[in-house]
Amino acid sequence: MTETQSSSSFQIAQLPVMGEAAQQSYPTATLYVVATPIGNVTDITLRALHVLMLADVVACEDTRKTGALLTRFGLNKQMVAAHQHNEREVADKLVARLRAGERVALVSDAGTPAVSDPGARIVDAVRAAGLQVVPIPGASAAIAALSASGLVNDRFHFVGFLPARPKQREAELSTLKQMTATLVIYEAPHRINDCVEALAAVFEPGRQVVFARELSKLFEEIHRCELKDALAWVKADANRERGEFVVLVEGAAVQDDAQDAEAERILNILLAECSVKQAASLTAQITGRKKNALYERALQIKGNGQDDGQDD
Ligand code: SAM
Repeated sequence: MTETQSSSSFQIAQLPVMGEAAQQSYPTATLYVVATPIGNVTDITLRALHVLMLADVVACEDTRKTGALLTRFGLNKQMVAAHQHNEREVADKLVARLRAGERVALVSDAGTPAVSDPGARIVDAVRAAGLQVVPIPGASAAIAALSASGLVNDRFHFVGFLPARPKQREAELSTLKQMTATLVIYEAPHRINDCVEALAAVFEPGRQVVFARELSKLFEEIHRCELKDALAWVKADANRERGEFVVLVEGAAVQDDAQDAEAERILNILLAECSVKQAASLTAQITGRKKNALYERALQIKGNGQDDGQDD
């Protein structure tokens, strides 16, 4: 929550539009998966407030944090702690309460439950018990970051948190290198430098990167640059190592048929004049295609499977 937000709660039930939130039916014996704000408390939806009002119990990661949020809206609810370490046990208790006909709201500390947050195991257990699960959509850092990134791509791949260990992190990034979808990475504030260094070690320096920092908070910042300039941007201000980050990485270039045909044409011309190695290398420089793949293709064209060795 930011300094600019008022700490006063208000009577949500009195908002005229709340009548519309109430028009839908909210059956009992149902688990409601409720998104909460990722920073600015007023990003909570009216439906979320309506469901929280109706809920018999609120299952949450941290009862202090969720208690403070509920208080801001004048709600006083029974809460049950449901975090990473007790999800399975709590799930059984919640299933029992749902069977008894209660409405249970599930929230996380921020954003959408089960998105890099606890919740999936509870939802799984409730569904396995044959009980109903209803999502109440709202904020999620990944979607907010994508929406303001300007990266033009219909596809994105949600990576979430990368492994903390350098070797595992680089191995995972290597598996993502050829993906053409925009990559969406969550990062803890103290690891942003390591994250950017790992990205720079694996991806091409010209890839676009977007940093979406402190979304919906007082010091919100959205910065887009080439990967080669990313570390300098993070280091330019010590505060940048403190905020919450979503890092978006432009997907790999789409290799289309027309580009393939052009690379083939250039390769053939050069093969008439140069060695296989030179032709592959020059074609890579001209087209931006991968030298190794062009080298293999050049060998095929030559038909002998071996370089002529002219420039070794
Ligand atoms: N469930 C949440 C969601 O729906 O986005 C994600 C929770 S995850 C534990 C926390 C991570 O989400 C942070 O490390 C950061 O990467 C991202 N995040 C959460 N709030 C953010 C914000 N206000 N600005 C930027 N990133 C945020």
